[in-house]
Amino acid sequence: MDDHQTLRRDLRLALKRKELFLEYQPIVAGRSIAGYEALLRWRHPVFGLVPPVTFIPIAEADGLMPEIGVLALRQACTDALNWPQHQSIAVNLSPAQFLSADLTDSISQTLDAVGFPAERLILEITESVLLERTINNLDILNILKLLGIRIALDDFGTEYSSLAYVKNFPFDYIKIDKYFISDLIENENSGTIVDFVIGLAHGLGMAVTAEGVETEQQARWLIEKGCDHLQGYFFGRPMGATAVESFNGIWDKNRVP
Ligand code: C2E
Ligand code: CA
Ligand code: CA
Repeated sequence: MDDHQTLRRDLRLALKRKELFLEYQPIVAGRSIAGYEALLRWRHPVFGLVPPVTFIPIAEADGLMPEIGVLALRQACTDALNWPQHQSIAVNLSPAQFLSADLTDSISQTLDAVGFPAERLILEITESVLLERTINNLDILNILKLLGIRIALDDFGTEYSSLAYVKNFPFDYIKIDKYFISDLIENENSGTIVDFVIGLAHGLGMAVTAEGVETEQQARWLIEKGCDHLQGYFFGRPMGATAVESFNGIWDKNRVP
């Protein structure tokens, strides 16, 4: 059996053995921490840490993602209950989750069960989620918004042009992928694109989050251009739930250039 097949087999067991867990990465707005993004991790007994880009596609293909997604949402909201009330939690939604018939019910049930306010939850969806045409995506997004949940359009610009979606749905945030942030300073094209996306989002009444901010220079550039939220190793790497509480305690607002 090759590694891929082994991972496939073991992923089912991982759920039972509770090998999946979440890390949280800070998202900075102005001088404060606006919230955290929940990122899934798998600690495999033999392979060690398996990155989500490896196991999430397997989970998607094998129909495990709705179950994993519900567990992740529940865990993220439970952990975030311990954080200051102004801090939000951003949770990623995979295409398979988005397509599951009971998505909105299962999300509102989870929020009720945990006692977590919908207003503190942000769901991150990618352009590929919206390309699935089998259901009325905009209806689902509108129901989520009616519940009070905010929606972020993730990885903007990396897949297909979704200008029709940003025209037709009031996303709360557009997230610019790290692909455009990593060479922002050296590559004029990246700078032009990022500048354009900030202007586009603001023109449409949406806020912008830049992902993958690794240097002070990038942070400074983005702040000068009016980027609302910043996320990346420069501010903090993804960390375990208990580390979040101490990170909040030692957060140095002067870190923001
Ligand atoms: P994403 O949603 O675009 O998440 C951002 C990724 O960038 C994360 O990788 C994060 O660790 C990484 N990152 C953050 N700051 C920096 C930085 O400054 N530099 C660099 N080079 N990277 C940075 P990660 O955790 O490996 O996750 C990869 C992808 O896996 C995510 O991309 C998301 O699409 C997916 N994913 C992770 N957790 C979940 C989940 O709970 N559900 C779903 N459906 N997908 C998830
Ligand atoms: Ca994300
Ligand atoms: Ca991304």
